[in-house]
Amino acid sequence: MPVVDFHIHPTKDILPWVYDWIEGFLPPGEDPRRYLEKTLTKEGIVRFLDENGLDYAVALAEQNPRCSGVITNGELADFCNGVDRLIPFADVNPHLTAAPARELDRCVKDLGFRGVKLYPVYQLFYPNDRTLYPLYEKAQDLGVPVMVHTGTSIFQGVRVKYGNPLLMDDVAVDFPDLTLILVHGGRGFWYESAFYLARFHPKVYLEIAGLPPQRLLEYFPELEQYADKVLFGSDWPGPHPKKNIQAIRELSIGEEAKVKILGGNAARILRLLNNT
Ligand SMILES: [Zn+2]
Repeated sequence: MPVVDFHIHPTKDILPWVYDWIEGFLPPGEDPRRYLEKTLTKEGIVRFLDENGLDYAVALAEQNPRCSGVITNGELADFCNGVDRLIPFADVNPHLTAAPARELDRCVKDLGFRGVKLYPVYQLFYPNDRTLYPLYEKAQDLGVPVMVHTGTSIFQGVRVKYGNPLLMDDVAVDFPDLTLILVHGGRGFWYESAFYLARFHPKVYLEIAGLPPQRLLEYFPELEQYADKVLFGSDWPGPHPKKNIQAIRELSIGEEAKVKILGGNAARILRLLNNT
């Protein structure tokens, strides 16, 4: 089974507090600007994948000019072009995109994107807002997953009320064939709600980027029983995947569950095994 990081940000245009956050994960003295410059090239990102033991990584577009940074769908397409181990996911900021469904259609059909990520807490919208329903319908028709940030964020300008995973219950019920991924597993005070939705809805998954892996069993005591519904992600260039993968391998759960979480489930959702 491949090892898949479902959550990396190859964003060059970032805000000052994001550099500070990245610096906290680097060896002492390493400058985050230099680190990103050398890693966010085609050679650099392949080296990153190799050094971290990743077969694939989902690379996320983001249009978060207030809170974190910007890499447009077009820029992400260029970055991923020729690097088959990167799987591009679009971002459609509903405040910046007049027709989110049409933008997703373009990204999937013209640019080869494999899904979309929404950032409600950065972009200030409720993810169950009816105006987004055409986007969900499009994703369901195209057969691509929708990732949604749930839970807290430490970046400036965030409004955490938009991060309640229970808002996604509406979407899961109204779009039963849509694969929904609850990013950060409801981080902070919604772990139980996020886990419940992943357990209850057949097409809803829990993604664990940005969570300390050694505390996963504390947040999700039934992790092993529902390992089919859990996806590993790092949130790099925040936490580095190698360290977190190692910590997951050391959890006191069965080997089969670890293989599913670290890439087996992602390979199924993203149909990686048919493509290789
Ligand atoms: Zn992230």
